[in-house]
Amino acid sequence: MTNRVFNFNPGPSTLPLDVLKIVQEEFISYKGTGMSVIEISHRSAEYEEINNTAMALMKDLMGLGDNYKVLFVGGGASSQFAMVPMNFLIGGKTGAYVNTGTWSSKAMKEAKIFGDVHVAASSKEKNYSFIPKKADIKFPSNTVYLHITTNNTIEGTQYHFVPEAGNVPLVADMSSDILSMRTDFSKYSLIYAGAQKNLGPAGVTVVIIRNEMLAKCKDGLPTMFDYRTHAKDSSLYNTPPVFGVYIVKLVLEWIKKQGGLQAIEKVNAAKKDAVYGIMDRYPDYFKGTTEKDSRSWMNITLRLPSEDLEKKFLSEAKTEAFIGLKGHRSVGGIRISLYNALTLDGAHKVVEFMEKFKKSN
Ligand SMILES: *Cc1c(COP(=O)(O)O)cnc(C)c1O
Repeated sequence: MTNRVFNFNPGPSTLPLDVLKIVQEEFISYKGTGMSVIEISHRSAEYEEINNTAMALMKDLMGLGDNYKVLFVGGGASSQFAMVPMNFLIGGKTGAYVNTGTWSSKAMKEAKIFGDVHVAASSKEKNYSFIPKKADIKFPSNTVYLHITTNNTIEGTQYHFVPEAGNVPLVADMSSDILSMRTDFSKYSLIYAGAQKNLGPAGVTVVIIRNEMLAKCKDGLPTMFDYRTHAKDSSLYNTPPVFGVYIVKLVLEWIKKQGGLQAIEKVNAAKKDAVYGIMDRYPDYFKGTTEKDSRSWMNITLRLPSEDLEKKFLSEAKTEAFIGLKGHRSVGGIRISLYNALTLDGAHKVVEFMEKFKKSN
């Protein structure tokens, strides 16, 4: 086995080694077919099994029933920024958005193409350093949906509550924290996530949609952009991103094998406690950029006392095989991404490195 690094890349990101090994083992001839999984028909029995298993596992892990459909589509989460308003806002409708960062802003930009956007709350004035309080999220009753970004990958904040939306359908971009902890997924009418952070490789986007929401899609949309097309044909209307869906299936099986979301949450809590722990011991040295009650478990953002120290930190980290710790250019500093596949050992090792770095700098 070639040496693997501690991979803190924000996305695409680390995947479970056990999954990569299965992919490697099965790659040339998938289950005795004499063909790779990327060489078989998406209408074959083999792919049908992959597709159905992945959809069923997704609902199983989320605790969702038959009133939801799981769709595998292309185009990334960024296409969902447009597809959501296209399906529900056309005809002068209003969507409410909570603006908590770069990705929310991009979602709002697309929504304005198709309808009206009501800003239900925003943390923009404070550099997106917090998640607005439940009581501060407000929108008119004629809103078609309330859209949130559950984890702000770039700014390092995360919702630790489900907003109160009443009868208004709740829509969430969960690209960077899907299946990282238990939450009441049944409160959402539509969830979408690009796979490349917690679920698999880039190229497949997962959409989980409630049947009542599907029924509200606008008529007259191009076929590929109508959610009903993908729901009706079990994501087989056209050629789906088969390799991505296959790996998502393996990742879901891996999550299940760990003990499901309860077990995943426990490990993720220990990982973030380790990193926030050292930040809280030395708050003048490892300066968190977010408010404490909005801290993300998945992407931890911090600054060091100077930019020179940050540069030195990143270059020394790299020589010790800690990869991908550079903060996004809009925030600067350091970002420690702790997605599901990043091990507890990896989190402890980076904390040891931080301790050592602080002592000698
Ligand atoms: C990465 C990310 C996106 C963009 O995903 P693409 O698949 O690259 O379009 C959107 N939202 C969030 C929260 C993300 O982390």
